[in-house]
Amino acid sequence: MITALKGALLIDGTGKEPVNNSLLLMENGRILYAGPDNPDRIPGKAEIISLEGKTVLPGLIDTHIHMDLHGMANTFEENLVEDKLRAIRTVREMQDTLYSGITTVRNVGSVNHIDFAVKKAIANGWFEGPRILTCGKIISMTTAGNEYFAGMYREADGCDEVRKAAREQIKAGADFLKLMATGAYMNPGGVPGASQLSREEMAVVVEEARKVGLRVAAHAHGKEGIINAIRAGVHTIEHGTFIDDEVIDLMIDCGVYLVPTLSAGYLMEKYGPERGVPSFMLEKSRGEDRRFRENLCRAIEAGVKVAFGTDAGTNYNFHGRNALELVILVEQGYMEPLQAINSATRVSAEALGLAEWLGTLEEGKAADVIVVNGVLDKSLAPLLDKVEMVYTGGRQVRPALTKGQEYELI
Ligand SMILES: [Zn+2]
Repeated sequence: MITALKGALLIDGTGKEPVNNSLLLMENGRILYAGPDNPDRIPGKAEIISLEGKTVLPGLIDTHIHMDLHGMANTFEENLVEDKLRAIRTVREMQDTLYSGITTVRNVGSVNHIDFAVKKAIANGWFEGPRILTCGKIISMTTAGNEYFAGMYREADGCDEVRKAAREQIKAGADFLKLMATGAYMNPGGVPGASQLSREEMAVVVEEARKVGLRVAAHAHGKEGIINAIRAGVHTIEHGTFIDDEVIDLMIDCGVYLVPTLSAGYLMEKYGPERGVPSFMLEKSRGEDRRFRENLCRAIEAGVKVAFGTDAGTNYNFHGRNALELVILVEQGYMEPLQAINSATRVSAEALGLAEWLGTLEEGKAADVIVVNGVLDKSLAPLLDKVEMVYTGGRQVRPALTKGQEYELI
């Protein structure tokens, strides 16, 4: 059966101008047509859905989440929830993520391989959820602070150990690998500017990933660590806090994607110690905000490819509220609305190596489609609470349930 979505504003994710009064046809999980309305194109036997006053766009692709963190005010307390309960909670939160319009996620670090079990449960059809790419544990050097997210890191030192750590994640079913190029903000021991794994160690991770056709994501704040990671051959830089002109040029030359994850800092700041966010996290980032904002603007202007990533799961960064990142990008002047949508669709699909079949509404591509009540021209806020229909692979899933609610912080 062909489904026809008719009359909406169409944003196809390619970067082309939106199309008013559009038609989108899908059949057997694929897009048959997306463009101006044309009655001749609708076959006799089609389910026709009229969508005047609404916007149709590709399902969003969040390239940086932590599926089994819950958004607790103090992330250390995540450790108090046993893994079995966490896994069940994660299933629920992946459902909410899908219903909110995020049809694909890249999970960049999970506790004790909960990610693989959840991915399998969704693939088996036991629960609805987004398409999931996941990496298992994050490969990190031995360092203070990793215990803050117990079970999330595979510590390894020296090329041989790092190689084994990489192979372990691949054996467990990793879709890509994630490594720590620098320290972190979100644990008490981490020094964000300090380099961690060496260039040689990271190159080993990239080598093991390449052998089986996988990509590598690097957590990297400090400049030296970012450069080491890019030279080692990683595909995405997560956070990128200390980027400057030299790094921007290098990223463009090497075609490396940046995933800025603005929501994480924004929400930590917004809720603050009054609402239980540990003050050490805020103290570490104090003063750096403005410089990063300026450098990120320059990076975007210069043409660095920016993928959509939220760090969902961190403090008050709830699963299902991922679109906040896009609202921030637009409201704080980093991107125009259309540009932000392209970042969350086509560019993110490219960053994950999926652009051949995902990320845009073009003939032959997977029918991951969302419908928003309202016209997405000036603000992207409707993506937070007005996603009315979600299709994944042409199949409609239940509509958004979260409607902006905040989860209780058990
Ligand atoms: Zn993260």
